[in-house]
Amino acid sequence: MPSLFIPRLVNDAFGDPGLFVDFCDERRALLFDLGDLGRLMPRELLRLSHVFVTHAHMDHFGGFDQLLRIILGRKANIVVFGGPGFLDQVEHKLRAYTWNVAHRYDELIIEAREFAADADIPCARFSSRHGFEREPCAVLPHSGDVIHEEATFRVRARLVDHGIPCLAYAIEEKARVNIDKDRLVAEGLGTGQWLRTLKHAVLTGADDETPLAVEWRDRHGEHTITRTIGELRDLILDVTPGQRVGYVTDLRYTEANVATLEQLLAGVDRLFIESVFLDEDREHGLKKNHLTARQAGLIARRVGAGSVVPFHFSPRYTDRGDEVETEMLVAWSDADVPDEAANGTAPSRPPDARNTRDSYAD
Ligand SMILES: [Zn+2]
Ligand SMILES: [Zn+2]
Repeated sequence: MPSLFIPRLVNDAFGDPGLFVDFCDERRALLFDLGDLGRLMPRELLRLSHVFVTHAHMDHFGGFDQLLRIILGRKANIVVFGGPGFLDQVEHKLRAYTWNVAHRYDELIIEAREFAADADIPCARFSSRHGFEREPCAVLPHSGDVIHEEATFRVRARLVDHGIPCLAYAIEEKARVNIDKDRLVAEGLGTGQWLRTLKHAVLTGADDETPLAVEWRDRHGEHTITRTIGELRDLILDVTPGQRVGYVTDLRYTEANVATLEQLLAGVDRLFIESVFLDEDREHGLKKNHLTARQAGLIARRVGAGSVVPFHFSPRYTDRGDEVETEMLVAWSDADVPDEAANGTAPSRPPDARNTRDSYAD
């Protein structure tokens, strides 16, 4: 059964963090973090509907300008989401430029939203027509840790400690709903718009007793019967749990952080998690508020991740990428490294020339 979305890292394991989540059947995508975006094609950036930033260190937010430059004049709107202080940070980014000719382009509206634990979500709007001046917009109601919800998926977020607050994210496909064509025929029903309505109703949790008009046309003419959502679901749909993906980067290894991640990510299918240092440098990792590869693996094991992709390797291990990856995998599996460990899902090729030992990260 095809996935609703496919997640992939923007850069190799030594490059800036970032996760591109491509929706297979729609021309849209989500992006987690705005580091160096040079490896994303303009057409991929133009597909973005929502961007979720973990925190505003340069390696996670410096690509805001790259994104803006591509989408200005080509895209009507985008939503950017971040942690405490994010509305001010977006405003300051936009104020750094002169916009006296921006009104000549097709309008771009940037809507910024700020995570506030246990409170409504403050928002601000920035329009190119008005020189990206900050304008207030209505606060969004808070709903547990769900910060974005659509019919087919949701994004959840929780704050972890990185010396500063930093957001960890979960992207969750609600369910996979497939039509069993054989059963449809066996029931004597024809296809029509009602199947789409039924799928949507099931995905959005409609009441089982809700009636649905089943309408179709065939060589005998038009047919209409009425059944409940619950009856139709049981008759002709296969409903299985959806894919769940975690994106975790920039945090200290503390019990409080691990407990928070457990609440957010228990049983996640695929976990993308920072593995910045080797465990031999764990004192340094603690000082820099980052995980070691072993700690990342232990977290992956504790949350019960089905698969793990490490990233955000320190440039100090330029020639030791395989070691970092192996250390994480051993801690995760608590056994010998499985064969599939080296199947290439976790990028470990050497960094390109841009990733020097001296580059500022965080
Ligand atoms: Zn970072
Ligand atoms: Zn950071």
